[in-house]
Amino acid sequence: MTLLQVRDLSVTYPGGVSAVRGVDLTLEAGQKLGVAGESGCGKSTLALALLRLLPAGTRTAGQVLLDGEDVLGMRWGRLRAVRWAGASIVFQGAMHSLNPVHRVGDQIAEPLVLHGRATAAAARTRAGELLEQVGLPAARASAFPHELSGGQRQRVMIAMALACSPRLIVADEPTTALDVMIQAQILRLVESLVAGQDLGLIMISHDLAVLADTCDRLAVMYAGRVVEEGPASEVYENARHPYARALSAAFPRIGDPASRFAPAGLPGDPPDPSALPAGCAFHARCPVALPVCAADDQPLRDAGDGRRAACVHVTGVPDADGGGLPSENARSTP
Ligand code: ADP
Ligand code: MG
Repeated sequence: MTLLQVRDLSVTYPGGVSAVRGVDLTLEAGQKLGVAGESGCGKSTLALALLRLLPAGTRTAGQVLLDGEDVLGMRWGRLRAVRWAGASIVFQGAMHSLNPVHRVGDQIAEPLVLHGRATAAAARTRAGELLEQVGLPAARASAFPHELSGGQRQRVMIAMALACSPRLIVADEPTTALDVMIQAQILRLVESLVAGQDLGLIMISHDLAVLADTCDRLAVMYAGRVVEEGPASEVYENARHPYARALSAAFPRIGDPASRFAPAGLPGDPPDPSALPAGCAFHARCPVALPVCAADDQPLRDAGDGRRAACVHVTGVPDADGGGLPSENARSTP
């Protein structure tokens, strides 16, 4: 059965903030899906909605099917169980949220005991095993958070996320606060854990290059919608949607020094989600917008090669020479 199916998911914060709009996504066990987009495009909101962790007063619509069961319709008792054993989240900046006065081993063991998964002694042993799984010596269980580096603290957070053997891990910008070398180590670690345990992974980042390196598929979000989705290398190297193209040009492939020095910038900012413009939300910044783009929004449609894109220039399954986008929009490669 499909691990995760998100169907027509919308999230509106109090005050009419349309942070997520009609998102459809699918993830199989063992698959890694990257979610990219500029700050404010709704990535964290989507992550929180998957486990119903949104603040009170927030309206959600649609379905989040985890192993076929709708998270949005679950009773509280079931939801609590699913939050630990079904899916867990590594939050943006979470490594700063470890409790400074408790040893990290105890913090990893705590949910296991709380959820009746293990006795205190067994949970301590399991905490040591989990630390080893994330590349730390079991003896580090007795360390306090301040005795660990940033990368080590993020490993501890990943160990906590793995503690109750979830089926799905959602990692929201797990490496953004880390330096590039440590970032690469953590990403390799997450990759190996997913491959070894047949987990599903949703990895969120603003950096499309990092996601393209790590994930099987990519979804690019803009103003709360998925504007392009497909195999990672296709979306990164040959995007169909002008926003996805701009994003991949702004994040050149790691190890490509020439392009690092001349990233193609995208002027402007995403629209305010409480005052979205008519038409395609990207039209004001789009280099290839047509008059119709200011009036009509575009649905995600089949763009060939297992991809979907929401752009007026993507009129259907395109022929081999590219998505039907005008050539002046081709990504600038220095
Ligand atoms: P991202 O993770 O892509 O940066 P977010 O999901 O954090 O985006 O935010 C999407 C939009 O929702 C932003 O415009 C943000 O200001 C708004 N937002 C986030 N949380 C709340 C909240 N609790 N109440 C109202 N608006 C919010
Ligand atoms: Mg975020």
